[in-house]
Amino acid sequence: GAAVHIENCGKTFPDGTQALAPASLDIVSGETLVLLGPSGCGKTTMLRIIAGLETPDAGGRVLFDRTDMTAVPIEQRHVGMVFQSYALFPNMTVAENIGYGLKIRGVDKAARAARVAEMVALTNIGGLENRRIDQLSGGQRQRVALARAVAVRPRVLLLDEPLTALDASLRDRLRSELNSLLRSLGITAIYVTHDQAEAMELGDRIVVMRKGAIAQIGTPREIYFAPQNRFVAEFVGAANIVEGPVSGGRLTLPGGWLALNDAADNAAAVAMIRPETIGIVAEADAFLRGMVESVAFIGDRQRLVVTGAANKPLTVDAPNTINVRAGERVGLSVTPQAVRVLPKE
Ligand code: ADP
Ligand code: MG
Repeated sequence: GAAVHIENCGKTFPDGTQALAPASLDIVSGETLVLLGPSGCGKTTMLRIIAGLETPDAGGRVLFDRTDMTAVPIEQRHVGMVFQSYALFPNMTVAENIGYGLKIRGVDKAARAARVAEMVALTNIGGLENRRIDQLSGGQRQRVALARAVAVRPRVLLLDEPLTALDASLRDRLRSELNSLLRSLGITAIYVTHDQAEAMELGDRIVVMRKGAIAQIGTPREIYFAPQNRFVAEFVGAANIVEGPVSGGRLTLPGGWLALNDAADNAAAVAMIRPETIGIVAEADAFLRGMVESVAFIGDRQRLVVTGAANKPLTVDAPNTINVRAGERVGLSVTPQAVRVLPKE
């Protein structure tokens, strides 16, 4: 796949809506880059600029392998696209849909049949080749859309919320199939979603977007464990946001204190703690204490709400083996590296 370089691409629509503030982004050849953010934050606009369906504002450029594509029309960019709605040809069979892009590129019948067979195997739709699109389930349609998009061996594969319309269990299954497929193809892919679990599983790197701007770029681990701001911390995964004064490397909270790594003194610091990084210990052994307000058994873990420890109730994901009850006082243990001080907003 191509390396994609986005330079200063912003977009203000004629009605004055600024969908994207000018942003730059590099996508490495073969990686899956996920654009993650809430509805309306500019993900689709960014994808459409890369595809050539939208022109960036003056000064913006899109390059594929260092070739300026900004003025190149979509059909000459060799991108493959998959959308939330399938956009398949209803009057054609599955095989004809998958082979369509090859046919218009003049690939001969035998080569086309071979590529279609390869794509059918890759997307697990064997046996459906001669069905019409209206005889397929949503999941099958999305597999066909994917097969059609990758059949032409695009330089860049663009996917806009391709799993959003599917029900939850199917979405999970297709997500992991898609993950294997993207890895085995080694294609450069840009994947748009508002779903953080999808972003985590599929992304080599994630671009978190907010209100038309990039809030953070990083690997799933960086985004999860080292969010640079409160928006990213709360959008990706569950986060306890606590506030209190920091002095001498300690964050003081109503129920005690937490040790921090390299934290400057600050009269009103804001910090993030992931629920699964908080340990439940004997009250006498802890520097931070609170009361268990509720316990919910979730199967693989229990989710506790602990009051009195911080300025607001803490969510704690504890192993399902420990025995705690609502109303009990507990100690909380949190390692310094699990406490992430965030900039004030
Ligand atoms: P996302 O895909 O993250 O949900 P979009 O890129 O579709 O967001 O939209 C970003 C913003 O730009 C939204 O406020 C949307 O309403 C606006 N927008 C998108 N397309 C147009 C358009 N053609 N004209 C005016 N505003 C638009
Ligand atoms: Mg969108």
